[in-house]
Amino acid sequence: MDIEIIEMAERKARFVLKNSSPAMANALRRTLLMDLPKMAIDKVEFHLGPIMSEDDREYESTTPLFDEVIAHRLGMIPVPTDLDVFVPQSECSCGGVGCPSCSIIYSLHRIGPCTVMSQDLLPLGDPSLKVKDEFIPIVELTDRQAVLIYATAVMGTARTHVKWQVCIGVGY
Ligand SMILES: [Zn+2]
Repeated sequence: MDIEIIEMAERKARFVLKNSSPAMANALRRTLLMDLPKMAIDKVEFHLGPIMSEDDREYESTTPLFDEVIAHRLGMIPVPTDLDVFVPQSECSCGGVGCPSCSIIYSLHRIGPCTVMSQDLLPLGDPSLKVKDEFIPIVELTDRQAVLIYATAVMGTARTHVKWQVCIGVGY
């Protein structure tokens, strides 16, 4: 099996598979879908109780969506992954407790009325870990509503959950 790369862009790759068979091409397709590791938000903590704004107004930590729905939406947002920096939590020297080598912590603090977007997720630490797709809507807040969230991203594969799927539309 030989691979000749034709195009390798940030979000797209094309290559010629030589000396192979449809079965091998399909195995490769399934591996690209299921086995490539990436970071995705896996744990979300919601602040409960009143949230104060900078001008000392008090807001309710309520949204029109259930917390579970917001957590699911956060999980599906693509998170930058550098395989030279991050390792799976199960293989990390921290023993899976969580450290800068195996997890990214994002904060999300918005006060209504507004539409909370993926660009509102701010990484604690390295600013290069900011989410690249900025305009994915998460939840719409009305007046006096607010969210304060801490979300932790860890590495995984799509064998566990589709939020860790790296490739889409793989075909031959
Ligand atoms: Zn760690």
